[in-house]
Amino acid sequence: MSELTSRLNLILQRISKLHSHTRRPVRLVAISKTKPVEDIVELYHAGQRYFGENYAEELEKKSNDKLIRTHCPDIRWHFVGHLQRKKVPRFLTRVVNLDCIQTVDSIELAERLNFILQQHARKLNVLIQINTSNEKQKYGIEPKQFLSLYDFIEKNCPTLNCQGLMTIGSMSNVQSENDQDFQVLIQCRKDLCEKSNRNFDEIELSMGMSHDYERAIQAGSTIVRVGSSIFGARR
Ligand SMILES: *Cc1c(COP(=O)(O)O)cnc(C)c1O
Repeated sequence: MSELTSRLNLILQRISKLHSHTRRPVRLVAISKTKPVEDIVELYHAGQRYFGENYAEELEKKSNDKLIRTHCPDIRWHFVGHLQRKKVPRFLTRVVNLDCIQTVDSIELAERLNFILQQHARKLNVLIQINTSNEKQKYGIEPKQFLSLYDFIEKNCPTLNCQGLMTIGSMSNVQSENDQDFQVLIQCRKDLCEKSNRNFDEIELSMGMSHDYERAIQAGSTIVRVGSSIFGARR
């Protein structure tokens, strides 16, 4: 077995050990940004289906790549980067096998996505990205404002299936044992369940990356986004 596949398997083992303590299965999204399509094909053959990218152009290119189209018919792409509104039409028409945009963080973006999806009679899974660390340079909606975005999507965006919440978290959350960003996201889910008639268990939480995915799962994450621990360091 190659090193790449054994790194994937190691992470899957760790995830399954942890999630036996939790209520729902945890999904691994393998973040393949900057990495070659050959690596993606190899991991697909090893059983991995969810892959994520954070640049619109790179996702467009990779999802249409001939190798990917031939070998990975059932691949499910997650977009985890910032999507500019003006790029929405092109993004939605060009990206193939798009499963979810994890980074919806404004009413304007939700509205634009819904408008274009309606033209194509399509539906799409989305997560609401929350800026849990309140850093100005980070994308994501403020915790205080996300409920109005959620309401807007529920009332006005029939093409968007809001599956839950996502956060990137600050460096201090990643590096220390301080789970503050995770706790903020968990509190947001609680607020959401109180204000809507959705069950706690139906709301996905996308949190945790290479350096903190285990702690994230222990805190209650249902989607982890792991890049470098699978593919190796990025240059
Ligand atoms: C790059 C990236 C990841 C993966 O980060 P690693 O530390 O390499 O696991 C996860 N989420 C987002 C949004 C990213 O951009």
